[in-house]
Formats: sequence, C-alpha cells, structure tokens
Amino acid sequence: MQVIDPATEDVITDVPLAAEEEADAAIAQARRAFPAWRDTAPGDRARLLRRFAEAVDGDLENLARLEVRNSGHTIGNARWEAGNVRDVLHYYAGAPERLLGQQIPVAGGLDVTFHEPLGVVGLIVPWNFPMPIAGWGLAPALAAGNTVVLKPAELTPLTALRLAELAREAGIPEGVFQVVPGAGPVVGQRFVTHPDVRKVVFTGSTAVGKQVMAGCAEQVKRLTLELGGKSANIVFADADLEKAAATAPYGVFGNAGQDCCARSRILVERSVHDRFLELLEPAVRNLVVGDPGDEKSEMGPLISAEHREKVASYLDDAEVAIRGSAPDGPGFWFPPTVVTKPGERLLTEEVFGPVVAVVPFRDEADAVRIANDTTFGLSGSIWTRDVGRALRVSRAVEAGNLSVNSHSSVRYWTPFGGFKQSGLGRELGPDALHAFTDVKNVFISTEE
Ligand code: NAD
Repeated sequence: MQVIDPATEDVITDVPLAAEEEADAAIAQARRAFPAWRDTAPGDRARLLRRFAEAVDGDLENLARLEVRNSGHTIGNARWEAGNVRDVLHYYAGAPERLLGQQIPVAGGLDVTFHEPLGVVGLIVPWNFPMPIAGWGLAPALAAGNTVVLKPAELTPLTALRLAELAREAGIPEGVFQVVPGAGPVVGQRFVTHPDVRKVVFTGSTAVGKQVMAGCAEQVKRLTLELGGKSANIVFADADLEKAAATAPYGVFGNAGQDCCARSRILVERSVHDRFLELLEPAVRNLVVGDPGDEKSEMGPLISAEHREKVASYLDDAEVAIRGSAPDGPGFWFPPTVVTKPGERLLTEEVFGPVVAVVPFRDEADAVRIANDTTFGLSGSIWTRDVGRALRVSRAVEAGNLSVNSHSSVRYWTPFGGFKQSGLGRELGPDALHAFTDVKNVFISTEE
C-alpha cells in the first residue's frame, strides 16, 4: 500500500499489506513467545519496559517527524504523542512488581487470587492517533505479561513499525511485540476470529466496533472498545467567556478535528450566545493552518481526499458562521469552520473534521438534555465559575471523560473511555492493567 503525506499528497513509501496467513504466523509467534514473557521475573520485565521507554525517548524527534509526514500532525502535537508513548511505558513499567492479588479469609485453608495474563493480545489501531493509541494498549498488556500483535491503520503504519524496531533494540524478546500492517477486514478480522488471540483492543469507529464486538462474542473473547464521540462543550453565562472562547478552537480543531474527544458541539447559554460568537471569531480566524512540520502551525491537513469529502458533506445543509483559513493545495486541507444552523447529521454524527456547531441553551437542565441527546458519551467540557453547578452537570452528563474550565481529556495515569456507544472498558490509569488479566482464585486446604 502506498503511504501518502497528507500535507503534500506525495508518496512517502510502500508498505506491504499482510495476508491472513501472515497474520496467523505472527499470532503463532506471539503464542510461542508468551510463556517465557509471562514467566520473566517482574523486575526484569519492568527493566525491559523502561529500556523500551528510553529507546522511544532517544528516537522522539524522529518518531515525531515520521508522524508529521505520515499523518499530517503538527510537529508540536507529534512530539507530545511520541512523548506520551514513552510516558505510558514508564508508567506501566511500575506495574509488574505491583500486580498484587488478594488473600481472602477462609476456614480450613488459604485463599489467594492471582492476576493471570491472558496470552496473545491483538491491538487494532485507527489512523488519527497512531502512536498514543498503540502505547495505551501495548504498555499495560506487556506489563501484565501478555504478548502483543498490533495492526496499524492502513493509512498510517509508519510510526508503529518504528516502535516495533525500537522494542527490539531495547531488548524486548522476539515475538513479544509485533506489528502486522494490513487491511482491517483481513488482519483486524483475523485477530477477532483467531482462537489464540485472547483479547482484542479495538479503537476506531462505532460501526466497525460493533462488528468486532459481535465477532468476539463467538469465543467470549475479552474486548476493550474505544469508539467515536460527539462531545459537548457547555458554556454557562457565568463562565470566563474570554477564556472559554479563546480555547474552544483547541477543544475541537486539534488534530484537524480528527479526535475522538473533539468537542464538536458548543452549547452556549442563550444570554451570552452572541457575545461568545463575537469572541470565538478571532480565535478561529487566527488559527494557523499550514505546513505541519512548521513549528508555528496549529492545525494540519485531513488524512485523505476521501475523508475530506466526507467532512465537507456535513456542510451541505448547514449555515456557516465563521470560516478560518487553509492552504489551497496540494494536500487535504480543510478550514476550521463554525456553524450556527447545523443540519441533523452534523448534530448527531461524528464529523471527525474541523467543523463545530454552536447551539444555544435555555438553562442547566436544557444544557444537560442537549449534551446527552446523542448515542455517544466520550468526553466534554463544562465552563462555569459555580462549583456546585460544575459538579451537578459533571454528574449528569453521560460521558466517560469530562473537564471543567479546561479542554483536556487524556492523562495517562487516569482512566479513559466512553459511556454508551463510545466504548466499553477503560484504558490508562491503574485499572487498565487488570483489563489485560483474568483473576484466578486458588484455595489451598490446610487440613491434615
Ligand atoms: P475504523 O473503524 O475505520 O478503523 C479502525 C481500525 O479498524 C483500522 O485499523 C482498520 O483497519 C480496522 N478495521 C476496519 N475494518 C475492520 C474489521 N472488519 N475488523 C477488524 N478491524 C477492522 O476507524 P478509523 O477511521 O481508522 O478511525 C477513526 C475512528 O476512531 C473515529 O470514529 C474515532 O472517534 C475513533 N477513535 C476513538 C478513540 C477512543 O479512544 N475512543 C480514539 C481514537 C479514535
């Protein structure tokens, strides 16, 4: 498959797509590597993960530049993404020695639990954040003693392939972490159907996630799903409006809107709606859209021509209020766009591009009702100076990751995941480790 630079449309390189037999060979190798990795002393596994993290750190600029070319991410973002892989590896490197079971009081013996690794874990990764999403599955899976096969998205395989090289250079044994570039319906689907893959972590669209879930049901396969979103950024009249408006573009146009946490609906209390739009306009117009390798760029291109067409289709029945700038081309550019009269699709579907709908609301109850009027439930923001309201609304909004007076969503040491059709299970934080183990209870009789 040709790998394209979305900022220039140049072909960067060709990557062969694996056939089903090659996926099977990788899974077989991962299975062979599993017992030795599982039985590696916890301290040694921790040391290898730290060395892997250090190898990523040593290669950080190269990884970032590779992502700029392959995905069109701005260099600032791409550095953060490579750094996130390093950090998540360091974080879970602390886990092998702390994977504690319980000792439960019983009569006539001893009862203990073990967190057993599952075996081979299959990671299916989307194109929007190839590095962090690889790291979020990889680090806890390896720390818990599993081996990993990873399928990157067809459009963005390059950084995942580099991560596999770095793992080997760091001394991670052969077969413990392999990258298998290939088509979703071939390699991804094989992870779902192969009986030796004991868990799938799927990050991608809700539509494909449902198919993966149905496929995993056949074998009662363990599954984590990180799916789409339609998150709300709720701005109350008592908020710091200047700050809410100045930062709103980063909450939705980051990564050109190709972010599952994008706040693609800005809900604004009616009394300050017009004022908020006035403040939002310069923030959108001043966003620097251009060469993602340039340190000054704040937004790069979309991933492909096909995706750009899909994003544009959401404006067919919408009224555009503010439009930022974008280069003419070549490259799959799309200007940051604010809509005040959105069509039904724009209000309910994930656009996954730099398009945001601004919607007025009446009062707190109305804001919560609109925010929850979606099948998704991933992320969102609440802007208010009233701490009671901030807590009430945080509890009432059906989403896995909310921030108050902020647009941040991800910290590798806190849980991340979706409510409703945005996903199943949680990644990151201390609990994600247990999602890569099954609990075993052992009773040892002390009777003579
Ligand atoms: P996608 O669903 O098209 O593809 C995701 C991955 O699944 C790719 O690697 C693809 O090759 C593979 N795939 C496709 N068909 C498959 C099949 N039949 N069986 C198994 N695997 C298959 O998604 P995308 O367009 O690459 O990514 C964008 C989507 O990802 C958006 O909906 C976004 O919200 C979501 N996403 C979610 C999170 C999260 O953490 N919740 C994070 C990033 C992206």
